[in-house]
Amino acid sequence: MAKILDGKAVAAQIRSEVAGGVAELKSSGIPVRLDVILVGNDPASATYVRMKQRDSAEVGIEARDHRFPANISQKELATLVERLNVDAAVSGFFIQLPLPRELDPLALISSIDPSKDVDGLSPLSAGRLAVGLPSLLPCTPHGVVQLLKRSGIEIAGKEAVVIGRSNLVGKPLAQLLLRENATITLCHSRTRDLPEVAKRADILVVAAGRREMVGAEYVKEGAVVVDVGIHAKEGGGLIGDVRFEEVEPVASYVSPVPGGVGPMTRAMLLYNALRAAQSAGDGETG
Ligand code: NAD
Repeated sequence: MAKILDGKAVAAQIRSEVAGGVAELKSSGIPVRLDVILVGNDPASATYVRMKQRDSAEVGIEARDHRFPANISQKELATLVERLNVDAAVSGFFIQLPLPRELDPLALISSIDPSKDVDGLSPLSAGRLAVGLPSLLPCTPHGVVQLLKRSGIEIAGKEAVVIGRSNLVGKPLAQLLLRENATITLCHSRTRDLPEVAKRADILVVAAGRREMVGAEYVKEGAVVVDVGIHAKEGGGLIGDVRFEEVEPVASYVSPVPGGVGPMTRAMLLYNALRAAQSAGDGETG
């Protein structure tokens, strides 16, 4: 029977460390402020923003939002990004995705100053990560690595297989695991014999966005399995990309959904806001 990778508990530990760091900065006259740009009235986005603001308040971070109707122009948003980039009162900020179809998210994200890019998703932040420069790290992949490390799982020298190659999760996660000295295989929808490839993994991370795709046939005996997927269950609740009941008897560790990677992602955003504020104090990024 696998042990549970308890994202809720590890995230609580990180939030308490962040709260300590925020209080320390505040006492030296540097408040931490996290801004969000929210466009349109997608109910899921509004809920995420509310959650992130509640999380911020709990650790002493001031959260502000900039809300706009869906018909705001690219130019107006670009001007706001420029303004937040240079506003010394703003430690970091992010654009809640998805944006309405008429807007180009990558152009906007690309213009965020990397020292304030708390989502870690700008091409500059991604490039800094790729060449080993300090940067703010994307929250979900960083959350996965912190969940592994803080659960006592050795990464160096291990075979790590990541399923999914998005810019949001899979690609930066491969970079981070590489930085931790794992041997990486990055899989995607065109990978041949996926269950066979996945079965090589000592550490298998599933971020395919396919409900309950991964069962026991993908998992080597004793492997560590991290489920990044999140899907709404009919009738309420959440479910992941992994068939938990099937994988649990085979794996040595498995992360649940909910209570695994989700809370880690939220905690790492707060961590990034703190890092951004700290680096504004010492002139360093990340
Ligand atoms: P995405 O759709 O952008 O990317 C999915 C990736 O998986 C693609 O690279 C695709 O090639 C690959 N893929 C799709 N089907 C596959 C298949 N059958 N076999 C192999 N590879 C396949 O998704 P994303 O944004 O990376 O998110 C992935 C999942 O993680 C989603 O369920 C999303 O909701 C969830 N997510 C969770 C968190 C969290 O905090 N827990 C954060 C971000 C995303």
